[in-house]
Amino acid sequence: MKTVIIGGVAGGMAAATRLRRLDETAEIVVFEAGRYVSFSNCGLPYFIGGVIEDRGKLLSHSPESFRTRFQIDVNLEHEVVSIDPAAKEVTVRNSAGDSVHAYDQLIIATGALANNPDVLQSDRTSSLRTIDDMDRIHATLNEPSTRSVVVIGGGYIGLEAAENIRRRSFTTTLVQRGPRIFPALDPEMVAALHDELIAHGVTVITGRQVRTVESATVTLDDGTELEADLIIDATGVAPASAVAENAGLRIGDSGGIWVDAQHRTSDPFIFAVGDAAEKTDAITGLPTLVALAGLANRHGRATADVIAGTTEDAVPALGTSIIGVFGITAAATGWNETRLREGNRPHRIIHIHPPSHASYYPGASPLAMKLLIDPSTDLILGAQVVGRDGVDKRIDVLSVAISAGITASALKNLELAYAPQYGSAKDPINLAGYVAENTAPGQMRTVQWHELDALSRTGSTILDVRTTEEFDKSHIPGAINIPLDEIRDRADEIPDGDVIVHCQVGQRGNTATRILAQTGHTVANLDGGYLTWHAGI
Ligand code: FAD
Repeated sequence: MKTVIIGGVAGGMAAATRLRRLDETAEIVVFEAGRYVSFSNCGLPYFIGGVIEDRGKLLSHSPESFRTRFQIDVNLEHEVVSIDPAAKEVTVRNSAGDSVHAYDQLIIATGALANNPDVLQSDRTSSLRTIDDMDRIHATLNEPSTRSVVVIGGGYIGLEAAENIRRRSFTTTLVQRGPRIFPALDPEMVAALHDELIAHGVTVITGRQVRTVESATVTLDDGTELEADLIIDATGVAPASAVAENAGLRIGDSGGIWVDAQHRTSDPFIFAVGDAAEKTDAITGLPTLVALAGLANRHGRATADVIAGTTEDAVPALGTSIIGVFGITAAATGWNETRLREGNRPHRIIHIHPPSHASYYPGASPLAMKLLIDPSTDLILGAQVVGRDGVDKRIDVLSVAISAGITASALKNLELAYAPQYGSAKDPINLAGYVAENTAPGQMRTVQWHELDALSRTGSTILDVRTTEEFDKSHIPGAINIPLDEIRDRADEIPDGDVIVHCQVGQRGNTATRILAQTGHTVANLDGGYLTWHAGI
């Protein structure tokens, strides 16, 4: 049996090597349009920034190594220009011309293509998708005349590019069309990332689009002119699905190649994996696009299993992802609040700000954690974690909890490794469980940071229960201050009617809320306290 694979990076090579391990007799042929096989595209920004010094570390494989170890025939600079599903053949183009190759099974792992909007086209513009892109950017940065770089797009690749370019002391400007960078996070969660970029000297411009690129000047839609010796186009990607579409394969509404749970396209002998193919969304069960390396690898491997005769369905995708920018790490899994609201999906929210590990042990720093929870089932719909330390393990636990169907309140029961330098006896994950339980429907009422303004305008009292020193430093406009330890004695100072209590992060507010509720007040706690409110405004 002959399996042809289009695309020789994450999904394609995961499929190829797994298939060989399962079947010594299979004929496996890979056509890769580019000049490199199985390169580490996630490492590209870090070579530009000098974090990875040895370029060869991104290129640990070659056609020869795949032939020697796996008997896989890898053909570089061979582009598949068409597929004939009826004849079970592909037409391949290289410098010698076109050739036709038969297959028994075909795997499409063509990845994604940079959007490359016309307005950004110039000889100073480069996307960052391939080794060639990386080499071009690296060479430009090494030219003595290069001083200023403008990165267009504030998603993962834009942020990683901006960080690494700024790391080398270039004047770096990040331009984002939307109202905030990194839309995987909700507005109040993104503030730390934004501030970190600015603290390290990156100029961040949001809510602006590029009007023109001329010579070394990027002009924005408000007339701002930015000097740009180099422009990085990080405006996003789209599935590289044209070769599949032209072959008559079904394309989903997302623009990705439609596949069933076993990665089979609308043709039974053709499979598709990775960024080019749709995934099943874990929250809705509907098709979606998720361009992440882990899924491409996993689905490539699973496709080989299917071809070899196993029939295991793909686990739906949560889109669990993480980014580090200078000292801040931000991570997300599942759906964020913005998306849940747009989809009219009922949800409740908790924010907590625990220390990353025991606060008495050196090096602890605050985490910001947000959970989105289904109010009727208590299942976790999404989570976000931002901080300087311990973000990665918390997001991974939450991702596993979602996949395993562990409810938000049941997080309190998870038995997590603890010593003071790693966590707390009540780990942030356990704390999230406590707060989820405390604020479940019918328990303590909470309000969100973005509801406060309207509530205060309609007459609710905002009661700050932090210390007078904390209050004097900064406080929510219109708030009155009665420190928690005085609240029992001074409860008669609180006006009648609705009271919104808050402290710095929500914990003292919880205690005050319970005291006041038992003295007959109509009371709610501001979720996440002053910190979340301040990050959101
Ligand atoms: P790719 O790895 O993109 O490979 C597709 C290959 O197909 C390409 O080499 C292309 O040349 C080839 N091809 C396309 N069309 C044809 C054709 N017609 N004929 C022959 N060959 C063809 N993901 C993460 O999870 N974490 C990260 O930190 C992360 N960082 C990233 C950083 C950068 C700079 C980039 C670019 C991506 C990053 N990603 C990250 C995303 C991740 O790399 C992709 O999700 C993953 O590589 C997708 O795998 P794939 O096999 O679908 O496509």
